[in-house]
Formats: sequence, C-alpha cells, structure tokens
Amino acid sequence: MIYGERLKAPEYVYPPDEWRVVEARFYPDFLPATETIFATANGYFGMRGCFEEGSPVFQSGTFVNGFYESWPIIYGEEAHGFAKTGQTIVNVTDSKIIKLYVDDEPFYLPTANLLSFERALNMKSGTLDREILWETPAGKQVSIKSRRLVSLQHRHLAAIHYQVTVLNAEAPVVISSEIVTDHGDPTERTGEDDPRVARGFRGRVLLPRVNYVNDRRTVLGYVTNNSKMSLACGVDHAFDTECPYSYTSDCSEDSGKVVFSIDAKPRVPIHLSKYITYQTSRRPQPEELCERAKRTLDRAVRQGFYTLLAGQEQYMDDFWRRSDVQIVGGPTAVRPTAAIQQAVRFNLFQILQASARAEGAGIAAKGLTGEGYEGHYFWDTEIYVLPFLIYTSPHIAKNLLKFRYSYLDKARERARQVNQKGALFPWRTINGEEASAYYAAGTAQYHINADIMYALKKYVSATGDDGFLHNVGAEMLVETARLWVDLGFYSERKDGKFCINGVTGPDEYNTVVNNNTFTNLMARANLRYAAETVEALRDQKPAQFAALVHKTGLEMSEVEEWKKAADRMFIPFDERTGIHPQDDGFLDKKVWDVKNTPPDKYPLLLYHHPLVIYRHQVVKQADTILAMFLLGEEFSVEQKKRNFDYYDPLTTGDSSLSACIQSIVAFEVGDPEKGIDYARYAVLMDLADLAGNVRHGCHIASMGGTWMVFVYGSAGMRDYDGRLSFRPRPPKQLERIRFPVTVRGQLLEVDIQRDTTTYLLREGDSLVIQHEDEEIRLSTENPVVVRPHTTRS
Ligand code: BGC
Repeated sequence: MIYGERLKAPEYVYPPDEWRVVEARFYPDFLPATETIFATANGYFGMRGCFEEGSPVFQSGTFVNGFYESWPIIYGEEAHGFAKTGQTIVNVTDSKIIKLYVDDEPFYLPTANLLSFERALNMKSGTLDREILWETPAGKQVSIKSRRLVSLQHRHLAAIHYQVTVLNAEAPVVISSEIVTDHGDPTERTGEDDPRVARGFRGRVLLPRVNYVNDRRTVLGYVTNNSKMSLACGVDHAFDTECPYSYTSDCSEDSGKVVFSIDAKPRVPIHLSKYITYQTSRRPQPEELCERAKRTLDRAVRQGFYTLLAGQEQYMDDFWRRSDVQIVGGPTAVRPTAAIQQAVRFNLFQILQASARAEGAGIAAKGLTGEGYEGHYFWDTEIYVLPFLIYTSPHIAKNLLKFRYSYLDKARERARQVNQKGALFPWRTINGEEASAYYAAGTAQYHINADIMYALKKYVSATGDDGFLHNVGAEMLVETARLWVDLGFYSERKDGKFCINGVTGPDEYNTVVNNNTFTNLMARANLRYAAETVEALRDQKPAQFAALVHKTGLEMSEVEEWKKAADRMFIPFDERTGIHPQDDGFLDKKVWDVKNTPPDKYPLLLYHHPLVIYRHQVVKQADTILAMFLLGEEFSVEQKKRNFDYYDPLTTGDSSLSACIQSIVAFEVGDPEKGIDYARYAVLMDLADLAGNVRHGCHIASMGGTWMVFVYGSAGMRDYDGRLSFRPRPPKQLERIRFPVTVRGQLLEVDIQRDTTTYLLREGDSLVIQHEDEEIRLSTENPVVVRPHTTRS
C-alpha cells in the first residue's frame, strides 16, 4: 500500500469534531482540497465549497447531475464498435457569489486582516457555515456570518444566509449578489496531464437563450451546444436590516447582479437571504425551465431561510437515525477516535449528498463535488455505494436501480454494436451510451452487467420488494443473461467448460484476459439469478411472466442454456499453489517488484506505458479479493486465506476502490489488524487526501467502502441469499461500534462491544438473523440479545 506517510491528520481540518469538519483558520494552500471537502449537494445539483466572495478560487464548480455536453471521440485509428460520443458534465452557472465592500474596500480573504475565521461543514444540519471577524484597513471591525445549504427536501433549491455587522463604526457597505456563467476551459486552468481529470471544451457550451431581471430576481436560461439539453438558473433575494439602504439590479446573457448599498450603523445587523434554483431538461426548452425556476423561487421566498433550514435539519436527523455508524475508541487507538468518527460521518454525508435526490440520474464517481472522471457513472454505484443505501435508505437505492433500467434499451443497442446478444451496460456513461474511449479498460469490463444484477439481488432480498424484481429487474436479468451465454463458449481444451475470453475484470492493470475469475463467478451468479427469477415468475405470476415474454421474446429453452452455462462455468484454480489465478494467464507473468518501486512512482498508470503494466503480475485494485467478499460462499476458508496472502502484496491500491475491500477480507481471514489498517485508508481517503487528488472531487466509491469496512468488515455481516448473519471481529483499537440497518422495513441496531454484541429491533415485529453459527429470533418482545463472542480468529 502506497499511502503510508500521508495517513495523518490534515492540518486544515484539525482539531477533529465528531459532527463538523472545521477549518479553524484560513489555509490558502489547501484551497483546491477544501473546495471539494466543503462541497454541498443534494444528488441533483451541487456546489464546490468555494467562498461566497468568488475568489480566491481553484475551481468554482457547480454541477447538475447528468447535465452534460457531448463531443465526438476522435481516434487515431478507428475500429468497429468503438464508443463514438464522449460526455462531460458541465460546470454550470455559478450562483453563490456574494461580494462585500466596506468603505469601498473589497473583502478579499488572502489579504484581509482576519481577527477570527472558522468554516465548518455541519453534518448534523447539512449546512456549510462560516464566521469571520475582519478588521478593515481603517480599523473597522466587521462580522461576516454565512450559512449555505443545498436543500435535501427541495430538489431544485439552495439558499445562502449572509449576515454582515459593522461592530465599531458607521460605514458604507455594499453587498453585491451575483450569478455568472463562466466559459473557461478546465484543462487550461489545471494544466494537468492526468487521464482522470475532465477534459475542457473549445468554444461555448452553454448558449444563452433567456435572461431577465425582475426586482431582486434574475433568471438565466441556456441550451447546450451539442447535447441540446437545457438549463435555467435563477436567484432571488430577501433583505432585512434597520440600516438605510437601496439596491439596483441588472443582468446580461451571462450574468446577473443585485447590488445592495447600505449605510451601516454600529452593531446593526444586515441580513441577506439568497435563494438559488437550478432546473434542467434533456430537451431544449429553456423558457419552460425559467417558468419552473420562477415557481421554485416564489415558494422559497415565501418560506424563508429558517424554514428551509429547519427542513434540512429534520432531513438530516432522519438520515442519521437510519445511517449513523458510531465508533468509540479504546486506549490503544492510533488516532484520536474523534478523527475517525468525523471521517466516517463525513463519508456517509457525502454519499447522501451524491445520491439523495438523484432521482432519474446515477451517482457520479466524484458525486457533485468535482469534475474528475467527467461526471460519469461506473460500477462504483452498484458495488460500493448501493450496499449502504440498500440497508439505510432503500428508496434511494431503488431509484438508482430504476435509473439503470431506464438505460436498458441503450444497453441492448450497445450489445448489438459490439456484436453480442442481450444487453451490455456501458462501463462509463452519463446518457446511457458507452463513453469510454479506451476499450481495454472500458468496454471490456463486461462484469458491469453482473455487478448491476448483483446489486439488484441484494436490494430485493434486503427489502423484500418482489414487485420491483418482477416488473423491472426480470427484464434486465433476461438481457444480461443472454449477453453472457452469447459471450462465452464451451471450450474443448478446458473439458467442455464454459469460458469467457477477452474481458477485463475490476483490475485495470490486466486487461483483455481470458477467464477472469471475478467475471466468471459474477456471470454465474447473474445467470442463476436470472433462471431462478424467470422460473419463479412462470410458476407463480403467470400474468407478469407473460408480460416479460412479450417484452423480451423469451423462450424457456434459453433458461436451460443459462443454467447449463452456469453449471459448467470455468473457474480458474491452480492446484500447485492452491489459489485462484486472477485469469488464465496471470500466473505466467513476471511478478512486479512492488516493494522496490519508489512511492513517488505510484499510481503506476501515470508512469508506465500500459503494456509494461499488463505484462506483469501487479494488481491495481481488489479483483479476486473482491470476488471473495461478494461471493464469499463460493470459497472455502482455506482458499480465502491463500488467495488473500497471494494477492494482497501484489495489490498497489492505485485505485481508491481497493483498500476497503482488502480491509473486509483481511477481517474475514483473521487479520483484524490489517483490516483496521486498510479501513483507515478507506475512511481517510478524502479528508486526509491520501490519493493526492481530492481537489478533483471526493472518491464516492471508497466512501461507500467506509460503511462496508465497519458493517461487513469488523461486524462481519453477510447477506448471502438474503440471510443476514454477523461474525463480529472488533479490532483491539475500538471499544465499540454501533450501527443500524434496515431490513425488510425493520430497523435493526447492532451494538458491538469488546465481549458482547447486542441486537436490538428498534422498529418492526420480528427478524431472524444469525450470530456466529447460532440463529437468533428478534422481536419487539424479545428486543435485546446479548452474546459473548464465541469465536475470534
Ligand atoms: C477504477 C475503476 C472505477 C473508476 C471510477 C478507476 O480508477 O479502476 O474501478 O470505476 O476509477 O471510480
């Protein structure tokens, strides 16, 4: 693992606070990182944590989930079936700017004399709060307080409350509230040569269509140049003070401004509430969106900031009741537990911000905190984030699965483009079309099909939502199963086993390989679930079965093919070493000297031609190790140990998706110390900027992994086939871990202490779970079961 040295408290968020991420003084050097850390979002749109004053700034990003510009992918050499259209999330109109002038001096953080400064992401209230005491060159002391929220209750709404008080003098104060559409080029700005950074555009992306100002309100409307999507952004203001004031407003194609001029009196506060709305559509209809913006703003002004704030707090209370992971450290804790607790909550909060109101969109790899990976959706959602959402906010999980389903037709089309039957979901996308220009580490990751079906199964068994399985899931199961039987073949050279060649597994350092163990196991699970679901429908729900047959043209002989392919699936196993090779050719390659590769030469992908990497045994991220977690019942305990011992040292962790999985499996194979070590990487990935690129956005998959390391890792939860079991293995650094999970509408609280585990059914009637090897029936009458840990490995 490469992160070693960096695993320490980042000074800009020190000392830790369990519910807030606090920047206790202004750190200009960390600005790019803090813009990501202090981002506020609701899953539909989000703003980076830039200052209201508009500068200093690294990237003043505002993103609407799924709002993208397209561009033709130009290849030096074309080939059939290559992805044709790139998609990049658009940095839209910046609406949060509020500039302040006192005595006509601008308030500019880097040069201002700050008597005090505190900025905090408050995870209890879902707000970004800032309090500053500024002394102007003329010795006037100005208190500036702001609170910013992107509403979780109101999908299209954000609000900023900005309060200025001159404490010791009279002064002319000007507050200029602005919105600006910037047409800058992100690559020019960052000047970075990293494939994970978003590309820039030449020329305008947002073409102006509407702009108007009406008293304190400004609305701008646009259409994107190529993708023909539309956007409206509007702001309105409420202003309140006992000081005399006047204001003016104006707007142009790309900006709007409402300027308040106040004769400030000593200690008389000035309150500005700025209401912000974004509306988007896949069709070019900016006028209609501007109408919607107007209605949203009318309502916001009517309700006022404090009503919105109360709604936000209520939403957060409910979220934490269902989702909080509480940690109490023991005397040997390596870091202050408050820092770990803070980071865990920060990660869960960012997942909420990435997903809560996505509704019809997916979860981008960086959420809405930055434009790394261009705002694309990957398997990150299904394998890393959905487990948390399924067990804490199942309605959000359902929306995300529905969203995948909405792209099933495009996935059918994609399968045709790459000469296969059934459906192939894109490796990375915004609009449902494959956007990966590098097929070896993109399109070839066919496992995405099985990943989505894996998440579907988990959702259905954890919620009991059979209706969703029958009406939505079954169709996806049929088409993904069709893809697998068409993709693979029965190989004579492998005793007639079903082989899947020319694919890439999760590990992007070994591409286009034959029989990737992960892919074959996941495909087998996909085929079996498809067969089981279709047969159950045929036997129990004839009407829904008929509808499915109508939609897919399914014949029962196909189901026999699926079962046969699954039963004969080739799973690589090497008798000599007793391990599962990652793929057919993996063990024939030269072993990469991970130990002697200097730390500054990671991630390998930035320093080596892909071919150099591909000819070695070196693993970017958990692959076989991930299979052992997801499909743990397919491996014996011995096999798990041997595989882990083999792959763990070869795994560089060059992807942030790795540490959490290595942690969970380390716990399972009896190495809780290693488990907790890896867990700390996952937990601190973003707050401590372990991967060194948090400026481009949070690593949402790893954040989902944070939840998994506690729940699947140290609590040892497993949910094979919907049977919930726990094998707690608390590491010695922690005294207590407590978390809730929602199972079939019932709220179970698990409380693990050094020698006891308590299961408490907080909501619901009855639930059967397994603790170690013992079945436990929980009911409201029998709410608490306390057991000593029977086995500890
Ligand atoms: C990882 C992928 C992941 C993507 C987006 C890549 O570095 O290898 O597995 O889906 O990042 O997070």
